[in-house]
Amino acid sequence: MSFLTSTTRQASRLLSRHHLPLPQPQTRCASSKTPFQWDDPLSSQSLLTEEEISIQETARSYCQDRLLPRVLDAYRNENYDRDILREMGSLGLLGPTIQGYSCPGVSSVASGLITREVERVDSGYRSGMSVQSSLVMGPIDQFGSKAQKDRWLEKLAQGELVGCFGLTEPNHGSDPGSMETTAKPHPTKKGYYLLSGAKTWITNSPIADLLLVWAKVDGQIKGFIIERAACPTGTLETPALKNKNGLRASITGMIQLDNCPVPAENMLDVTGLKGPFSCLNSARFGIAFGVVGALEDCIERARTYSLERKQFNNPLAKFQLVQKKLADAATDASYGMLAAIQVGRLKDSEAGLAPEMISMIKRQNCDRALHHSRTLQEIFGGNAVSDEYHIGRHVANLFVTQTYEGQSDIHALILGRAITGLQAFF
Ligand SMILES: Cc1cc2nc3c(=O)[nH]c(=O)nc-3n(C[C@H](O)[C@H](O)[C@H](O)COP(=O)(O)OP(=O)(O)OC[C@H]3O[C@@H](n4cnc5c(N)ncnc54)[C@H](O)[C@@H]3O)c2cc1C
Repeated sequence: MSFLTSTTRQASRLLSRHHLPLPQPQTRCASSKTPFQWDDPLSSQSLLTEEEISIQETARSYCQDRLLPRVLDAYRNENYDRDILREMGSLGLLGPTIQGYSCPGVSSVASGLITREVERVDSGYRSGMSVQSSLVMGPIDQFGSKAQKDRWLEKLAQGELVGCFGLTEPNHGSDPGSMETTAKPHPTKKGYYLLSGAKTWITNSPIADLLLVWAKVDGQIKGFIIERAACPTGTLETPALKNKNGLRASITGMIQLDNCPVPAENMLDVTGLKGPFSCLNSARFGIAFGVVGALEDCIERARTYSLERKQFNNPLAKFQLVQKKLADAATDASYGMLAAIQVGRLKDSEAGLAPEMISMIKRQNCDRALHHSRTLQEIFGGNAVSDEYHIGRHVANLFVTQTYEGQSDIHALILGRAITGLQAFF
């Protein structure tokens, strides 16, 4: 598979070009010769395997070389380049933990490191990728028939087909169990369902070839793969939601279904909220890594800016209040990365993990990334308002990451329920 052969070579070639230059330590602790690394204070790198480091470097080089130069234009014009998924597919970045179907079958930590590198550039690019990998390929791999896997997984892995995941509805976001979208047996066409309803805020929906839509069959939630090309005119519309003030480098839209015929063979083999929630858990795990990447980019940019910008005859970096902002942010970024790696290791272990662990790291890392990006933005003064400095874009994006896939307060309720045994949702 391309990812582990050519890209591994590519990774070592790119290591020297893209590894962030480490600052030379000015002082050393008397009891240790280990220098402090501002961009990896707790040495999360030491917990990674060689293969994971290689994958991380490959992802970083692609993101810095190919995504970063596009992001300002994409963000200004809300213009998502569909080729990005093909490029990611050619590097083996899509569905990375899946075995077979041209997917590399790497560790959960490796998949998290990919999302970290993509989100270091932009959360919108990471969203487009996560939907494809965790919310479309993941459920097909987990709940799909062999025929469904054979038909779609490889094409999704190569970015030939684009997928989207439709759970949220205009009247039901945090409470998807109350969804109104229905699937009813076709009155005349045997082996078909008719889907009706509306989904909103759906990443990739305007360009999706495959739409994974969750709908109720006799009150039970089921997942259906809708193939756009097979939908009769007027039964499926996916208008884009424009003029967003965050995640503008990704494309978002609605899914409107009006008696859309879908073959029963396109239904996934799972019933109830377990279906969407198990895919969301995987995506939330990726977000926990991803937002650390966005925060790390904010830290790096704020550090560089504060070293270069002088006020009162001194670089801003010399002032205590500025140093505190950087120290707080670097601390939470490194704690967040260690926690994410630990959950990733448990995810791949025999013992497995409790879903609440993912709620904890998704919530904590998103909240801290949003908080610190807003604080670090202050270091840029008036220049923070210019998109050329990038930090304002991260701040706007990180609001969305804190909101989607379970808003932070909802994850607090999930944790509160696990801690007390008492349900506080209603
Ligand atoms: C850019 C973007 C992309 C998205 N992509 C997708 C996608 O691909 N697929 C998809 O299905 N969805 C997607 N979403 C939707 C997202 O998951 C929802 O916005 C999110 O689940 C919150 O739902 P809501 O917006 O309806 O807010 P609401 O559910 O109306 O919540 C509003 C506020 O009320 C709070 N609240 C709700 N219930 C409680 C309670 N019981 N106790 C305390 N507080 C509560 C929430 O925490 C939140 O702060 C996307 C959203 C955005 C903005």
